[in-house]
Amino acid sequence: MEFTHEHEELRRNLKRFIDNEVNPHVDAWEEAEIFPAKELFKKMGALGFLGLTKPEAYGGSGLDWSYAMVMAETLGHIRCGGVPMAIGVQTDMATPALARFGSDEVKKEFLAPSITGEYVACLGVSEPGAGSDVASIKTTARKDGDDYVINGGKLWTTSGTQADWMCLLANTSEGAPHKNKTLICLPMKTKGVSVAKKLRKIGMMASDTAQIHFDDVRVPQRYRIGEEGMGFTYQMLQFQEERLWAGASKLQGLQRCIDETAAYTRERKMFGTTVLAQQWVHYTLAELQTELEALRALVYRAVALYIKGEDVTTLASMAKLKAGRLGRTIPDACLQFWGGMGYTWDNPVSRSYRDGRLTSIGGGADEVMLSIIAKRMGIFSGR
Ligand SMILES: Cc1cc2nc3c(=O)[nH]c(=O)nc-3n(C[C@H](O)[C@H](O)[C@H](O)COP(=O)(O)OP(=O)(O)OC[C@H]3O[C@@H](n4cnc5c(N)ncnc54)[C@H](O)[C@@H]3O)c2cc1C
Repeated sequence: MEFTHEHEELRRNLKRFIDNEVNPHVDAWEEAEIFPAKELFKKMGALGFLGLTKPEAYGGSGLDWSYAMVMAETLGHIRCGGVPMAIGVQTDMATPALARFGSDEVKKEFLAPSITGEYVACLGVSEPGAGSDVASIKTTARKDGDDYVINGGKLWTTSGTQADWMCLLANTSEGAPHKNKTLICLPMKTKGVSVAKKLRKIGMMASDTAQIHFDDVRVPQRYRIGEEGMGFTYQMLQFQEERLWAGASKLQGLQRCIDETAAYTRERKMFGTTVLAQQWVHYTLAELQTELEALRALVYRAVALYIKGEDVTTLASMAKLKAGRLGRTIPDACLQFWGGMGYTWDNPVSRSYRDGRLTSIGGGADEVMLSIIAKRMGIFSGR
């Protein structure tokens, strides 16, 4: 991975923005269990952060995905996981399919304002009965005249209580579950869309997560993204960027976890020396640093191949898997070395411990990544 002056400039500018506009508010947003997405996204949009890889015709910068990777990595300077996750949903989870397959009309109506930050986007794939098994979703969008009439509901919708539109995956016909689905841009203020519940979670506190109901929701068929029946395929392609994003976004936060633990244990005295001076402690941190560098190398390699146009499904799945694993092992090991302080709510490492647990579950659980990798290796025997 070769970084240019432009990559470094992006890193510097985004870091400055985070230091000035995000980190001073993070504790209050964590406490409130929500952050003002529209207010923050408008500021980010004005600085061009929300459209790095999006087409210039809709206000984006038309850059390759290495810039999205640098952005995901730099977002790790935010001192919580929830805000970066919601930004990632906006830039790399709810909008890639729209940018790639949407008509000019839907891109003007939904993509352009998502790049300026005027619109907050959310992604509606998971449902109460269907998470890992995306093909089994039950939400339907039935054709009626020029409209779709949508019924069903979504669960776990990040930014769901404040989003302006949802990139919705729904069944538009009977038949084969991989060929009967369509992605649709759904304005969240449409009659029949309701937020059933804001979910309480163990981490990612600053990010609101919602359960959404659809009751005879009518949207024009022209809000469809690309071709009807291609929604599952588009979503699987969209997952590729989501998984690379998940890998890249963990790097900086996990580095901070190790660094802050080294700093704390260097000062903390015990048995006439310091915690860090215990061989088990500094060997463990050295081991974790090595693991983190291995994840970094994997992410950089996957992205370098991705921007050359190669299929990186296997590497992206490996990066997501490894990020999930390290998202658990690094904060867990670090928390131990803080002793009782690590067990307090406001401790930075305990926040990483709680937030980091999600990566092994969301956007495809570790086991789903393992099944993709096994399939690609030709050794998969299951369903
Ligand atoms: C905080 C948060 C935010 C989220 N944001 C969004 C969002 O914005 N949009 C959205 O659409 N979804 C979102 N999700 C949903 C997330 O993607 C799902 O939770 C995830 O896909 C897992 O689905 P599930 O929760 O239904 O678990 P299930 O599918 O019920 O899986 C349960 C467990 O089964 C095991 N398992 C799964 N597959 C296999 C397998 N093949 N072999 C062996 N074991 C397996 C895994 O251990 C898995 O954790 C979010 C979730 C959370 C918690």
